[in-house]
Amino acid sequence: VIRMVNVQKWYGQFQVLRDVNLEVRRGERIVICGPSGSGKSTMLRCINRLEEHDGGEIVVNRIRVDHDQRNVSVVRRDVGMVFQHFNLFPHLTILENCMLAPVWSRKYTRAEAREVAMAYLERVRIPEQADKYPSQLSGGQQQRVAIARALCMGPKVMLFDEPTSALDPEMVKEVLDTLVSLAEDGTTMLLVTHEMNFARQVASRVVFMDHGSIVEDTPPERFFHNPSQERIKAFLGRLL
Ligand code: ATP
Ligand code: MG
Repeated sequence: VIRMVNVQKWYGQFQVLRDVNLEVRRGERIVICGPSGSGKSTMLRCINRLEEHDGGEIVVNRIRVDHDQRNVSVVRRDVGMVFQHFNLFPHLTILENCMLAPVWSRKYTRAEAREVAMAYLERVRIPEQADKYPSQLSGGQQQRVAIARALCMGPKVMLFDEPTSALDPEMVKEVLDTLVSLAEDGTTMLLVTHEMNFARQVASRVVFMDHGSIVEDTPPERFFHNPSQERIKAFLGRLL
């Protein structure tokens, strides 16, 4: 679904991504971790061109992510993204938040969009909140709405950037449960998180980044039980 080949990115003189190579196949659940500032968010954001890469190649579903805005539009329809902060539209109800993109971008009728939205709100187990506004929901509920909203577009892959790190501890679990259930359904996902139990439980691969490079890309068993590098041991040690 996603192929990144020798991707490079600079902010001025500072190289944020160096020689990033990553292949994501359908149904894979890839957890990305690594120290703060190692380029995890930047890598995700390059995939749907919220950031432009300066070198190498990114291909999503056979479409090259490049200067051609038509390609970018196609890629963005196929790639769902959920951020740390939920970015819901405050002046729209939960249901309207979920209907917006399908109506505008997928040309669904309002009736179709409503049906899809309700189905995904049920999927994340908050259909009863449909007519409320985001500010009336807890953080965990808002994040589940953000997930439902992304799923309404029928994405081929979901990107999550620390979806639980802005939540109060008691709400982390409900969002993780939602993510586990998506994983069990075979959703292809790329997820930046420090929830290592989650990684152990659902990841098909764990990718470790440091200084803009992928320095490890391995099944979780090996990542946790036999880390190949001192810096990974140190990282895991700090999380415990
Ligand atoms: P964190 O775990 O803290 O979220 P991260 O691994 O997601 O970190 P990025 O947000 O991708 O890291 O940032 C990588 C590096 O790029 C950091 O050193 C950051 O300061 C720098 N950076 C990010 N965005 C910009 C920008 N718009 N301009 C300049 N430098 C930036
Ligand atoms: Mg980040």
